[in-house]
Parts: sequence; C-alpha cells; structure tokens
Amino acid sequence: MSYQVLARKWRPASFDAMVGQEHVLRALSNALDRDQLHHAYLFTGTRGVGKTTVARILAKCLNCEQGVSSRPCGECSACREIAEGRSVDLLEVDAASRTRVDDTRELLENVQYAPTRSRYKVYLIDEVHMLSQHSFNALLKTLEEPPPHVKFLLATTDPQKLPATVLSRCLQFNLKNMPAGQIVQHLRHILGAEGVDVEEPALWLLGHAAAGSMRDALSLTDQAIAFGGGRLLEAEVRDMLGTVDRDHVFQLLDALAADDASALLAAAATMEAQALDFAAALETLLAVLHRLALAQVVPGALDPEMGDVERLRSLAGNFSAEDVQLYYQIALNGRRDLPLAVDPRAGFDMVLLRMLAFRPAPALAAAGARASEAAAGEVGPPGKKPEQRRAP
Ligand SMILES: [Zn+2]
Repeated sequence: MSYQVLARKWRPASFDAMVGQEHVLRALSNALDRDQLHHAYLFTGTRGVGKTTVARILAKCLNCEQGVSSRPCGECSACREIAEGRSVDLLEVDAASRTRVDDTRELLENVQYAPTRSRYKVYLIDEVHMLSQHSFNALLKTLEEPPPHVKFLLATTDPQKLPATVLSRCLQFNLKNMPAGQIVQHLRHILGAEGVDVEEPALWLLGHAAAGSMRDALSLTDQAIAFGGGRLLEAEVRDMLGTVDRDHVFQLLDALAADDASALLAAAATMEAQALDFAAALETLLAVLHRLALAQVVPGALDPEMGDVERLRSLAGNFSAEDVQLYYQIALNGRRDLPLAVDPRAGFDMVLLRMLAFRPAPALAAAGARASEAAAGEVGPPGKKPEQRRAP
C-alpha cells in the first residue's frame, strides 16, 4: 500500500472533525440548520488554515442526499463523490492557474443550467483574487443575479485585491491562524493514532515551525517521519528544521547573568564551530526571552510541555524585568540588522556584547558601589556623613 500523506489522510470530513475556526463553523452550522443560505461565501485567511477544507465540507452540507444540514451523512453518493473529488456538481477552480477570461467564461456560461444530479451547482473558486478583470466582470454578472440552484464558495489569501463589487455580494468569513498549542494537540492525536513514537518537544518544534498553518504542520511532520525513519526525535526534528537548540541559548543567558563576556563569546564560538545559523539562533533567543519574561511575570502561563520551565524559573531571578525587555529589543534589532553585518558571527557577537554593555542593573549597582567607596574615602566634617547614592 502506498503511503498517504497525513494532510490528505486526516483531511476533516465534517465540521465536527475540524480543529479550530469555531467562529466560522458555528455561523455556518446555524445558517445551514435554519435554512438561511446565502448564494456566495468568501473564505479568507493565510495559506493552510482550512479555507478549501471548510468550502468542501460546506458543499457536502448543501448537496447531501439526506437534506441540507450542518451534518452531512458522509455516505450517500453525493457526499462520497465530493469527498473523492469527482462530483459533477462541484466545480473546483484554482484561479491561480486559470486567469484567462475564456476559462471563466466557459465555466460560467453553464451557470443557468440546472445541476446534473444534486440540489445545487457549487462553484469553488480558490485564490479568487487572481482572476483577471474580465473574469471578475463575468463573475460579477452572475453574482448580481444568481440562479437559485447556484452557490459560490470563494477562497482567497488576499481579499484586499478583490473588487468591492464582488466583496459586497459575498458573506465573508475570516479564518484565523492556528496557535502552536492547538497544532501540537492535533499532531499528538494524529501521531498517536498512527502509532508513531514521539518526543513531546519535537511536536512543539513542528508546531512553532508551522507558523499557524495546519497544512504546513502536517507536511513538516510527514518530512520529519521520513527523516527519522518512522520516529519523531527532538534532535532530529531540530536538525531537519535548522532550529537552534535551546541549550545554546541558555548558555548565553547564563553568561549574561554572570556578566561574563568571555563565557558569552565562547558560547558563540561553539555555535559557530557547529555551523549553526546565527539568524536562527537569534530567533531561538527571542523565543526563550519571551518565555523568560512570562516566567517572571505570569509563571502560570508557561506551557510545561517544552521541558524548560525549571531552567526558566531559575534564570528568572537573575534578571530584572527591564533586562529581559532590553535583551528582547536588542535581539529583535540584531535579527533585522544581521544581513548588514560584516559577517553573521560578527553581527551575533555585537548583539551579545550590546546586551552586556547596556544591561542597566549591574552597571548602576557598580556605579552605586563606586560612589559609596568614594564617599567612604572622603573626609568630611565630623558628624556629617556624605550623602550616599544608592542604586534602586
Ligand atoms: Zn450525504
């Protein structure tokens, strides 16, 4: 049996099986169950968040032989044909590859004919913003006077590029990016069912690398399973993604806490010897600083699954909240400026040294100490002590 990619194998067949996007699913389910149907729906959101998945399920809801509802049976021939991508009444178009007006005209000229077998003729136009001006005009004409047996399901990553005349005739739903925690939860479920051995931190690496897209998460997971020979180990997933091990970042933070410039540069040298990518290192540093700030302010908000909570808690006391904010800002600017540095290592070194140079607390404390030493050495009039400046 050939290997079926996870995104295809685990494509949700019903609204209930979908992860996230509850706000969209609830509104659609209510409309379907109350028979308050619109003739054109527009789904927006970044890639891989489920726009065409929602649209295909909606097509089933509309054409299921058991009747229009938010829970299509999944077993009638209409439901099965849609699931298998061979329904004659679901016309799927990828506008990114069909931008010529003839294509759309050809597509829309059959609009007035009744559906072949189902209740509705459903047009699913993906990346609809890619249609040409002429195609939009053809689409608009149909949207203005839609025949009762036609439904339009439009999807786009870039609604700004749609003409206002089209936007105003659609019911619009914005699908959100998925939080890493939600992606991890879904991956854990899928990989458990697939019987894949998993190290929990590997899931979090994948969850973050997917940047909100479930489809990306699943294809990265496919790659990782192939890379790891059927297992998901943290070190291997890290290698595959080019993510920098948090241990390196913790060493940097230990050196910063100890105000130890040579340890700081030695840690950077180790990273260079291992041929790590310094841009990725700054990304990891930013992620850890974010968690360190949480550990200081709202310790309860940390996901324990990443396995770094103990380490963060012990570091949290070594920095003031201002230190962490300052480091974050310096790392953020450093990441932006890294391509401008003479070489990445020099850029990275300068970021670290800037953190050391601008750290407010030890510098102030040291200045305070020097001031008190100087004050103690001064000979003042008896009974009148010189005023001491103290660091806050
Ligand atoms: Zn059905």
